[in-house]
Amino acid sequence: MSDWPHRVAVAGGTIEIVVGDITRLAVDAVVNAANRTLLGGGGVDGAIHRAAGPELLAECQTLGGCETGEAKITRGYRLPAAHVIHTVGPVWRGGGQDEAALLAACYGNALALADAHGLVRIAFPAISTGVYGFPAEEAAPIAIGTVLARLPDVSVEHVVFCCFSAGSAVLHRQALEALTR
Ligand code: ADP
Repeated sequence: MSDWPHRVAVAGGTIEIVVGDITRLAVDAVVNAANRTLLGGGGVDGAIHRAAGPELLAECQTLGGCETGEAKITRGYRLPAAHVIHTVGPVWRGGGQDEAALLAACYGNALALADAHGLVRIAFPAISTGVYGFPAEEAAPIAIGTVLARLPDVSVEHVVFCCFSAGSAVLHRQALEALTR
């Protein structure tokens, strides 16, 4: 049997860790690890824009960008997900530039925005751990810990951590086990 998906009931809902492509998930919102322009880029951002189609870029062009740690919502267009929540992770600069708090803010503000729209099922990529260079083993407990802390207070009941590699999924599962023990 595969290790994935790994699904756990927690206070306020369920957390699922999967290995896969976030553009394939039929949830209420997928979270995009965007950049401050919100005008597309590489990695998961590029994949989401390619899968959603040019209508997504057109809507993003009306948003005026996004600050690091903040989040903005659009429709999902050609994605199976109804919405995209765009958040801008911190660029890793060694850890002394508030990177951990800014990464936590990404997860917290994405959940708050989902809550404001009454969304129930959302999926996150491993924000900042690609081109932005945040160490994956430090990012995973921040991601899991922030979601565990907020889940009881938001409309969101089901959170998917959509990891792009088995290594990333293992880090998220270990963080989940450590924080729910
Ligand atoms: P950032 O600039 O925030 O670091 P990246 O897109 O470079 O964003 O990477 C964030 C994470 O998203 C990385 O772990 C990367 O492997 C992962 N990723 C890339 N493409 C996808 C995808 N289609 N679905 C899910 N995760 C993805």
